[in-house]
Amino acid sequence: MKSQIPNPKSQIPNWVDGREVPALAGEWFEKRNPADGTVQSRAARSRAADAAAAVAAARRAQPGWADTPPVQRGMVLHGIVVAMQARQEEIARVVADETGKSFKDAKGETGGAIQLGLFFASEGQRLYGRTTTSGTPNKYAMTVRQPLGVAGLIIAANTPIANVAWKVFPALVCGNAAVLKAAEDTPATAWLFGRIAHEAGLPAGVLNIIQGYGEEAGAPLVDDPGVDVISFTGSTKVGRQIAEKAGARLARVSLELGGKNPLVVCDDADLDNAAKWVLLSAFSNAGQRCAAASRIIVFDSVYDRFRQMLVERTATLKVGISDDDDLGPVINERQLSNVLGAVGRAKTAGAVVLGGGHRLADPAHAAGFFMAPTLIESARPDAEISITELFGPIACLYRVKDFGEALALANDSPYGLTACIHTKSFDRAIEFAQRVRAGVAVVNAGTYGSEPHMPFGGFKASGNGTREPGTEALEVYSELKDVYLNTNPDDLEFRI
Ligand code: NAD
Repeated sequence: MKSQIPNPKSQIPNWVDGREVPALAGEWFEKRNPADGTVQSRAARSRAADAAAAVAAARRAQPGWADTPPVQRGMVLHGIVVAMQARQEEIARVVADETGKSFKDAKGETGGAIQLGLFFASEGQRLYGRTTTSGTPNKYAMTVRQPLGVAGLIIAANTPIANVAWKVFPALVCGNAAVLKAAEDTPATAWLFGRIAHEAGLPAGVLNIIQGYGEEAGAPLVDDPGVDVISFTGSTKVGRQIAEKAGARLARVSLELGGKNPLVVCDDADLDNAAKWVLLSAFSNAGQRCAAASRIIVFDSVYDRFRQMLVERTATLKVGISDDDDLGPVINERQLSNVLGAVGRAKTAGAVVLGGGHRLADPAHAAGFFMAPTLIESARPDAEISITELFGPIACLYRVKDFGEALALANDSPYGLTACIHTKSFDRAIEFAQRVRAGVAVVNAGTYGSEPHMPFGGFKASGNGTREPGTEALEVYSELKDVYLNTNPDDLEFRI
């Protein structure tokens, strides 16, 4: 199928106030195709002035959008969802082209984004408050949800259309206007969403999209006093900086950050099923998932057998961009060198590479950012490779003697996003789900679990305690107001 990204010489603009505009300074940056390293598009290189213009447009549009009844806001968002359904293949093609993931995976991701949009469009009919009793006679108590104002949305590139939907739909249904800072590695995906929203009738200025680098376009958005809530999906390092800056001006912040997620394989596990899920959890999307399993914790009595299964199966994984392949490239050259550097340092520190560990240098892969799926063992639990999120196709194996040691090691991490256990024991499954310090606990599958109607987020350095999506996202994007109604029955001309 033909690429949907505007041809390489064409340029991807910002969306501000319902119009496609270049960056004010007229600058562009190059976005490269992860599959072959060529320049794929040039996107607006936004800076502080562009962020300010987008925030100003959002502030102008927000009161009118907030006054639109939530049910009608939901109807407008539903129009966007319908358009996304009609254009699912086109969106998926852009996602696949920009990320290097297969069309099949990109289509699945787009389907997830549509599901999420559907959920939040329908929330327009359910922006429930609470009615309750008062301690005072003739007084009635209730809560109502109100918008915050302008939402600044900053996202990562790993699942670009899902990340856009994840933030835009809940922010807008709550009556906020938004400025989305697109991920610099997936500019066309965000731009296309902007076009679809515009054509579906979203009023001008309600959603503004700026392209650009984090320091240049994202940081000014965080600093802008016209932004009332910042929702960020990205690394823990940048999340910390954002929280500090937003905290100084008391802006609300929701942080969806990194993970170093454990998958425990017990001695009573179905090893075949466990191996299948380890490969999917560690290597799908080339390991570029916040939820990826990167620490595989295996009971001693099955360790050697399970390691053998993993080594054999990992060697059969196909790396490429077609629907028959198991994983694609990482997103850019810098990310590939980060990951390779980490593997090199792990080896120096005594870890053993069981498979992979290198860039693919054959003619089909050499120009792209492809890494062989990599299994490592004998890394110390406190080594850099054990405690640092790599965001590449790498998993480390750890040997433990029993459940207690497995749980302790699973929890011995700065992160706490997802976790999984493979066991046939009901007791182990429940104990693990109760005691693991992670936002998602899974039994007998993979470290997946973010469904549109469910809250997702992490303990410890994986977030700041907020949860998106699910109805919990409404807490991020709205204010609750108590309303008390007082009556004076003595004024009435009748008595019961
Ligand atoms: P990143 O933190 O480098 O960048 C994420 C976004 O933040 C980009 O749009 C970038 O331009 C912007 N940014 C960078 N510096 C900024 C600054 N100083 N101020 C404002 N914005 C700035 O992360 P990445 O490497 O692009 O993405 C991978 C990370 O995202 C991983 O840590 C992954 O776990 C995380 N992630 C988390 C979730 C989740 O739901 N928890 C989902 C997907 C990805």
